[in-house]
Amino acid sequence: MNNRVLIIGTGLGALTAALRLARRGYKVQMVEKHHQPGGRLNQIKKDGFTFDIGPTFFSMTYEFEEFIRDAQIKMPFKFKTLDSLYEVNYRENGKNFSIHKDLDKLAKEFERIEPGFKEKMQRFLDNGGRFFHDVENKILKRNYNSLWSYFMAMATVPPKHAPLLYRTVWSELERYFDSREVKEIFSLVAFFLGNTPFDTPAIYTLLSYTELVHDGYHNVEGGMYKIVEGLMSEIKKKNIEVHYNTEIVSYQKENGKVKSFTDQHDKEWNADIFLVNSDAALFRHKVFKRPSFSEKKLEKMKWTLAPLSIYLGLNTKLNNVSLHNYFLGDNFKEYAGQIFKNAIKFEKPYYYVNVVSQSNPSSAPEGHESLFILCPMPDMRFKPDWSDKQKIANDIVTDLSKRINVDLRKHIVSETIMTPEDWENTFNLYKGSGLSLGHNLSQIGAFRPKNFDEKHKNVFYVGSSTLPGTGLPMAVISSKLAVERITEKYGFIHQ
Ligand SMILES: Cc1cc2nc3c(=O)[nH]c(=O)nc-3n(C[C@H](O)[C@H](O)[C@H](O)COP(=O)(O)OP(=O)(O)OC[C@H]3O[C@@H](n4cnc5c(N)ncnc54)[C@H](O)[C@@H]3O)c2cc1C
Repeated sequence: MNNRVLIIGTGLGALTAALRLARRGYKVQMVEKHHQPGGRLNQIKKDGFTFDIGPTFFSMTYEFEEFIRDAQIKMPFKFKTLDSLYEVNYRENGKNFSIHKDLDKLAKEFERIEPGFKEKMQRFLDNGGRFFHDVENKILKRNYNSLWSYFMAMATVPPKHAPLLYRTVWSELERYFDSREVKEIFSLVAFFLGNTPFDTPAIYTLLSYTELVHDGYHNVEGGMYKIVEGLMSEIKKKNIEVHYNTEIVSYQKENGKVKSFTDQHDKEWNADIFLVNSDAALFRHKVFKRPSFSEKKLEKMKWTLAPLSIYLGLNTKLNNVSLHNYFLGDNFKEYAGQIFKNAIKFEKPYYYVNVVSQSNPSSAPEGHESLFILCPMPDMRFKPDWSDKQKIANDIVTDLSKRINVDLRKHIVSETIMTPEDWENTFNLYKGSGLSLGHNLSQIGAFRPKNFDEKHKNVFYVGSSTLPGTGLPMAVISSKLAVERITEKYGFIHQ
């Protein structure tokens, strides 16, 4: 009976796929390169502080609800809805804007600099909403067997949305708003996809609708890693074995199928079916050595920005800083244009700050604060040397200190820096690119690396590097789509 599945990796896509498969009667085993589960949704515990290393908030909670119904488990963690979504601060004039889901409150922030803001924003969001609902089920949440099936699906989308395909996020915002700040702030959604608004297709303005209208933003009670801990306790209940510090490096084939994969210690891992959560393009290159994913071809693909992430433990409270914050400068266009190519001046960085302990007090000792700073950087193709990481981190901390009026250096009792090199080495992310492949039109839908292998009939892929794309809800959807592929071929082992 074809019922043994080996899952390679333990990112969110893998964990949710494991439970969906277990519920269908498959016998699942997992191997993971890192010493603990979660992939990018991971955690560092150090010097009495706890940090979520990557994701800090997410949308589309109903995808998690669909997953627990499908896996027939109880929700193993609790969402916390964010009322005030985030703050945006400008370096030069110190202007601060609070982004609220409530449109009246939001309008109060912007009416002065953008007359008629409420009506303009309402139109912008209505348009994004119409597009979202026209594509969510028809395009986003489905598998494609061929380019033809993708184009056929696209043909069902009302033609009025077609201009969104050739405009960018920025040019779409220019159609509605005049104020520089308004356009910059509502184009930040492109950075959530690891790109800039000047090269992200306008279809992604639908993210403004998902954040401001539809499901909003949420985090998790007790920290984001509770998602992984909760899923792991379910995985344990199902007797799914997980083997850590195990990196798959090669494979053996037989009759058009993979017979087994081999780890770095030459141990062979056998199964009937293999589900790869490692980056779907990089795995095809590194392990399968596939010419269509050669080094040259990978280099030519569009990858997302790489993270420089800083985790600080402070022996003080930061009472005047909000939970989620974006710190911007006054050269947005120029900065965005240079950021991929390592031409930016690090003394004037743009970055995101999360006061972790504000939403999860257990992440820092009494009277202390745990702080996460994330600065988008060029990947290792453009900046291979990170020996200057401490200097760059110092510049960011100095800039932040000035802007929040607290000399952070005096209060740092714990500091960890993860460079793109660390992200690459820890999770096998291509050149340290944080959000996998970019979301330009030639790398989404049927053009994204497929969730089934081109050569080996028993190999499938799950996670943000395959369909439908990056982010936590997308990883959950990817597990639905990958499991659909597997059950189409191998059926339900039992109901
Ligand atoms: C800094 C940062 C901030 C983010 N913020 C957010 C956010 O706020 N909201 C949001 O929704 N999303 C966010 N994301 C994106 C989100 O983290 C990812 O989209 C999601 O977690 C990816 O899940 P995945 O299933 O693709 O697996 P991954 O997290 O990529 O995990 C893959 C796993 O496979 C393992 N692996 C790789 N190769 C091998 C191998 N050969 N053998 C064995 N194991 C292997 C890796 O070690 C890893 O554990 C962020 C990402 C980063 C980096």
